[in-house]
Amino acid sequence: MSKQLWFSVIAYRFIAPPDNFYTFLAFLIPMLIKDVSLLESGQLLNGRDILIQGNRIIKIGRDLSDEPGEELIDGHGQLAIPGLINAHTHLAMTLLRGYADDMELMPWLQEKIWPLEARLTEEDIRWGVKLGCLELIRFGVTCYSDMYYYPDVAANATKETGLRAFISGVIFDMKPEMLGQVEPFVSRWKGDDLIMPTVGPHSVYACSKETLLKAKEIADRHDVIIHTHLSETREEVEGSNLTTGKSPVEYLDTLGMANERLAAAHCVWLSERDCYLLAKGKVNVVNCTVSNLKLASGIAPLNTLMKANVNVCLGTDGASSNNNLNLFEEMKVTAIVQKNAYHTPAAFSAEQIWHLATENAYRAFGLNLGLHAGALADLSLINLKTRPWLYPFSNMVSHLVYSMTGGVDTTIVNGKVLMRDGVIPGEAAILEEAQKRFKRLVSLAE
Ligand SMILES: [Zn+2]
Repeated sequence: MSKQLWFSVIAYRFIAPPDNFYTFLAFLIPMLIKDVSLLESGQLLNGRDILIQGNRIIKIGRDLSDEPGEELIDGHGQLAIPGLINAHTHLAMTLLRGYADDMELMPWLQEKIWPLEARLTEEDIRWGVKLGCLELIRFGVTCYSDMYYYPDVAANATKETGLRAFISGVIFDMKPEMLGQVEPFVSRWKGDDLIMPTVGPHSVYACSKETLLKAKEIADRHDVIIHTHLSETREEVEGSNLTTGKSPVEYLDTLGMANERLAAAHCVWLSERDCYLLAKGKVNVVNCTVSNLKLASGIAPLNTLMKANVNVCLGTDGASSNNNLNLFEEMKVTAIVQKNAYHTPAAFSAEQIWHLATENAYRAFGLNLGLHAGALADLSLINLKTRPWLYPFSNMVSHLVYSMTGGVDTTIVNGKVLMRDGVIPGEAAILEEAQKRFKRLVSLAE
């Protein structure tokens, strides 16, 4: 190598800033959201300022003075809401949206979804996850909990978009090699600022006792969450009773897995004893009403669970069984369905439902979130001036649950703006690539 070339290499190494230099610089610059409206104990407060430094909200108050060099966001006419958490999804499945609808769960999985999934490449996962991230950002979801194939690819793609996520690879006996990949994945991502690794045994019907116990052992050793599907269909419960003599919840309890480390999606078919065990173990239940309704799996006994003091949060499930990732829609449908299930409009107030998508989810995932000083800066802004369905300002929590059709204008995660006034940098390229990949996948399956 010539002397000049060596010099160029050395100069680049030491003079040119590394890629993350600008990110680091942005991290140091405070951000001030001026004159925004927000909710405090259900009351709408106007004219508030939110000061963000690094990845935290430092202060919320009136007339916080803006300093030179601060990034300023005009919040006038906008409502700030804390980040929502989609607590159960399979984000890469956004690539399969609309591919197979209106089928029974098992034929849907066996004849349509699993054969197509067998053809998914790492690149398909990458673009499916990016497509899902776009949708989450647009719906004000700042964090999601995922279980799917190629978790490293999903984690990297998510990190590139700037969202926060709890990610696990899916474990089941059909693909025994997945189990061996869990611990290295957890070790690689433990301690990351945005990606929290979890352990994802698919379900009691897809995992043997040995697999479940191995998953538990890894999760215990690394102090991470176990993410699973539980008591989703009547057939699952009947099968479990037949093979183990126990309900799926009782079975997990005997394995020592029904505890606060467990995030159990669905929990539709529960006995009173199951509800008691979930409460006793402090299991976090993730309700997925729209997916359960679309697949005709049933309606979860949320009122009974909540009366038993179980911490319940909300998820959309994958976009191929929902078919979107819209938590506002999930909130409204959940409220309305539960009112009908218990034959009273008094069941589940808007405030209770709002709590499921925010505070309960923050507790389940151990995150310090919300609009208060010290919290992680994960929030969204909704432009009220362009949303007549949020007028008049009477009960804004009710509006968010019953009248919001989804879609926020600005999304901030970990102190970084991911979407500003409806613009997400790089969105068009992601949409184009996702469309190409969907076409290729379907042509392979035909
Ligand atoms: Zn699922």
